[in-house]
Amino acid sequence: MKKVLIIHAHPERNSFCSRLKDEALDYFHWQNAEVKVSDLYAMNFNPVGGRHDFTEAENLDYFKYQAEQVHAWKTGTFDPMLKAEMEKLEWCDTLIFNFPIWWFGLPAMLKGWVDRVLAMGFSYGAGKGVYENGVFKDKTAFLCFTTGGPQTAYGNEGKNGNLDTILYPIHHGILYFVGMKVLPPFICFSPVRLTDEERKSELARYRTYLEECQSQTPLFGPAH
Ligand SMILES: Cc1cc2nc3c(=O)[nH]c(=O)nc-3n(C[C@H](O)[C@H](O)[C@H](O)COP(=O)(O)OP(=O)(O)OC[C@H]3O[C@@H](n4cnc5c(N)ncnc54)[C@H](O)[C@@H]3O)c2cc1C
Repeated sequence: MKKVLIIHAHPERNSFCSRLKDEALDYFHWQNAEVKVSDLYAMNFNPVGGRHDFTEAENLDYFKYQAEQVHAWKTGTFDPMLKAEMEKLEWCDTLIFNFPIWWFGLPAMLKGWVDRVLAMGFSYGAGKGVYENGVFKDKTAFLCFTTGGPQTAYGNEGKNGNLDTILYPIHHGILYFVGMKVLPPFICFSPVRLTDEERKSELARYRTYLEECQSQTPLFGPAH
């Protein structure tokens, strides 16, 4: 992990989730890795995709989002903020999504980043492959997230159900779809219920995760 991009989506910079992002930053600096952070709330990132993604339109009469994405990719007419995010993504070898789980998924802010930045033409489609032939097959990705529910709620017997199933749309439908090697996630369950000491231990556990994650078997693909 030499070039790391963290996409961070928490509205409170003193949250425990934001603290996990800082822990990763600290670790990668110590490793002499280059790190870029897209702190989506701090950037006032607009998560809603639409005509404003583009500086020109291929079809003014009927808006077809993916077709316009392909056109913008071919003509270099994405909105400059999206272009900047795409460049960061192309630059990195490791992508981290850092977020609190909201409604069993990505917060809208981060989901909107996916909708707008992983655009057709740029990251899939228009003759480009997917999954093991995906555009980003040389990149590794993983999730670092916090929950409200305790770990017991997310086991096979838990009321919330199995986390592998809950995370499948993100792991498989987004990250692996565009070719990335997806590592098992780091999850901090219910930080709000922990004592300060326990939260400190969670930060240390994340540090260990970061040290060891490269030796983890990816969740999908031939090595699995
Ligand atoms: C719209 C919405 C939908 C949600 N859906 C779900 C869902 O589907 N499933 C689910 O499980 N949860 C859900 N939640 C809950 C949410 O996931 C959790 O509230 C969140 O993940 C908790 O993480 P946090 O970083 O926000 O916690 P915080 O509340 O920020 O952190 C907990 C505590 O840690 C303290 N802290 C911060 N930094 C440090 C530090 N350095 N050392 C020690 N302590 C520190 C904070 O002061 C705070 O007291 C949802 C919440 C929302 C708003």
